[in-house]
Amino acid sequence: MKVLKFGGTSVGTVESFSNVVEIILSKFKEDQVCVVISAIGGITDKLISAVEFASAKNPKYLEVINEIEQIHYKFLKELVLNGKTNHTEEQITALLSSIEDKLKGIYLIEETTHRQSDAIISIGEQLSKTLLVAVLNARGIKSTNFEAAEFIKTNSHYSNAEVNFDITNKLIREKFRKTDRYTIPVVNGFTGSDTYGYVTTLGRSGSDYTATIIAGALSADSVEIWTDVDGILSADPRIVGEAKIIKEINYNDAAELAFLGAKVIFPKAMEPVKAKRIPILVLNTFNTNFEGTVINEKLGKFTSEIISITSLNNLSMVSLGDITEEINYSVLTKVINKLNKHYLPIISLNHSLANRAISILTYSKRISEFIEELREELKLELEHHDVKKFSIVNNISLVTIIGNKTDNQPETFKKISDTVERLEISSLTYLNGTEGKNYSFLMDKTDTKDVIQALHETFFGDSLTANVA
Ligand code: ASP
Ligand code: MG
Repeated sequence: MKVLKFGGTSVGTVESFSNVVEIILSKFKEDQVCVVISAIGGITDKLISAVEFASAKNPKYLEVINEIEQIHYKFLKELVLNGKTNHTEEQITALLSSIEDKLKGIYLIEETTHRQSDAIISIGEQLSKTLLVAVLNARGIKSTNFEAAEFIKTNSHYSNAEVNFDITNKLIREKFRKTDRYTIPVVNGFTGSDTYGYVTTLGRSGSDYTATIIAGALSADSVEIWTDVDGILSADPRIVGEAKIIKEINYNDAAELAFLGAKVIFPKAMEPVKAKRIPILVLNTFNTNFEGTVINEKLGKFTSEIISITSLNNLSMVSLGDITEEINYSVLTKVINKLNKHYLPIISLNHSLANRAISILTYSKRISEFIEELREELKLELEHHDVKKFSIVNNISLVTIIGNKTDNQPETFKKISDTVERLEISSLTYLNGTEGKNYSFLMDKTDTKDVIQALHETFFGDSLTANVA
């Protein structure tokens, strides 16, 4: 069996949605398939902004709902055969009015929780799933609507929930046991539910994860991630026009790349299939004949010195300095606990007893609330000058070069430093290099484009592909 996952842009227009149906049908002729679908491109963003408007008591949320409605009715009208839309139309209307009802509640009380937000934004996937089931059925293919919240069980960390694999795997096997070769189960990606039964979401772009979770539980033959680029590339194609396709990459390198900024696959997506060695294929809905990237357990025969250049943007560096020695650890503990409370991950941590300083790199999202609370928490220490410096720098980017071999670091590092030195970028600092196979450095966001382009030219200037499988 194959698990096929289609991302938002793959179903972003009526034409591409129809194209997806053709891909499903051709795969289904060869093998049993399960389909996982994202919300129509842009819908999740719209739902999030509607939630934000409503909780700020801004009636603009109604305009956003209106846009979401228009899009779905247009798809319904143009995709589902004339005269057969009645039942589907009812379902779509019911989903749309549940969005409106929930938002109205938020608007009235001027407040929202992550839990309410998850309940609303997950409806984007319900809508696209309903459309796809209807289109497949209208084409005479039996397909069934599978509700992910019934079998993907998570903790209650709303908006970024963690999966409980013991229960989830069992539930998936039970749910899919009765499916036959001639019926296509269609699952809403991105969605789970917690022990109380509340809907959770798995993190932005989490539908990839839904697909690999199902594939892992069912020991599928492969997972196909259908997206809008040719595969995993040697750099972001919006920054480097000549970015090369990586034909084959192993699970760990793919995960590392994704964690460090490559948008093409969800960072945790490799986990559920890794142990069973189920390959993940990254394919382009708009270039179906192209072979894409295969993620598997092999080390890959890279002909290039490095695998890829990637960047994480919108980061902040929080620094505390001149900390009285005796309280150094207690300050560090307070900072870490506060980060945890705000779901802010530590991308890098520098704790130096010698310099009596702590610096932490994390995401800028929600950083101001974090800083405010941390200042409050460290009020006494700051007043008594046990912590003298407290600063924050925003707009930082982390550029990472994912190396290939570990045995020529000094040489690779020299090429990197020569390249960036030529650019004379004042904001640049090395985070690490020469240890392990990756090289990371920090800089102001405005400088990343130049750095990435120059590095790409240094390492891939004249090669045709990043890796020859
Ligand atoms: N629709 C969700 C998002 O936009 C999940 C996904 O596309 O995978 O983040
Ligand atoms: Mg995606």
